[in-house]
Amino acid sequence: MSCNCEPTPLSWAKMVQARSLLAMLRGALIVAAMGLAFAPGAARAQAGELNIYSSRHYDADKEIVERFTRATGIRVNVVEGDVGPLLQRLRSEGRNSPADLLITVDAGNLWRAQEADLLQPIRSAVLEATIPAALREPAGHWFALSQRARVIMYARDRVRPEELSTYEALADPKFKGRIVVRSSSHIYNQSLIASLIATAGIEKTELWARGLVANFARPPRGGDTDQILALAAGEADIAIANTYYLGRLLASTKQEERTIAAKIGVFFPNQDAPDQNGRGTHVNISGAGVTRFAPHREQAIRFLEFLVSPEIQVLFAEGNFEYPVRPGIATSAVIDLWGAFKADTPAIVGLGRNNAEAVRIADRAGWR
Ligand code: FE
Repeated sequence: MSCNCEPTPLSWAKMVQARSLLAMLRGALIVAAMGLAFAPGAARAQAGELNIYSSRHYDADKEIVERFTRATGIRVNVVEGDVGPLLQRLRSEGRNSPADLLITVDAGNLWRAQEADLLQPIRSAVLEATIPAALREPAGHWFALSQRARVIMYARDRVRPEELSTYEALADPKFKGRIVVRSSSHIYNQSLIASLIATAGIEKTELWARGLVANFARPPRGGDTDQILALAAGEADIAIANTYYLGRLLASTKQEERTIAAKIGVFFPNQDAPDQNGRGTHVNISGAGVTRFAPHREQAIRFLEFLVSPEIQVLFAEGNFEYPVRPGIATSAVIDLWGAFKADTPAIVGLGRNNAEAVRIADRAGWR
């Protein structure tokens, strides 16, 4: 077959016509496809963005942000850092801050942010209906997203759970040289001390802290995981730590970490003492608040609402072995091993208020 491939002027014109028709068609197809891909097409156009300052750094968090963008079209930028520098940054940026949402761990940190006037109160029917009142700041400055229990852990081969009862009892001389816990410079311990101040007052709490320090097996060092490792290594018999650190070891892909975790028991203290010591195990939260000058306030609220949806609450439970804030969500199989417990939830909102006093008590008691 032969082909006269040299076009005549006429066929040029026809080709141009045909090409522009094709281009138009293709354009129309692309527009239609976009409409399908981002189903609420209009919403996509005005979905906007959301800027988060976060001191939570867990693998599951990245997945959560991606799911939110897929569901809403809202682009999310996350600045990660330690909470101190993030608060300082918010302070110095002032009303020019691009941040919409502050996510952090520990009610004490959220309280600090609120005290520094870095958060604004918001109302959301979804958040108020989903999150129990004790797990959110009454005016709406911040909301808990997950709960963590700070428990007593013990070496199964050297401690019987019957020997344990309360945090208060850890000051008993019978535990001399047997306890490990991280530094009091970490807010987890400051909040634990703050919870004791709330029930026992300053003097009794200081006496307790002195007794606890006297029972230390070694000067505090490392994080919660290091205390668990110390139990497994026989350096101490009892530790204070958050359960999710043990959860990570139990679910580890490394056999040696699972072996370590199997040596450790979890004891939920302060369960059934008849006095104030039966207030429940100390629990804390991870949480978030909308920043004072949030340029994307509505998107920030939408993200908070997304975080307490059943889908994401399951991720908190499965991804980091934390307890959901939304009632009725199944916890992970690892968490279920430890069973149900009574939590000192009412103390959470007040933990920040006693923080400065807690730091002074730890200092006077020599808890480095
Ligand atoms: Fe932690």
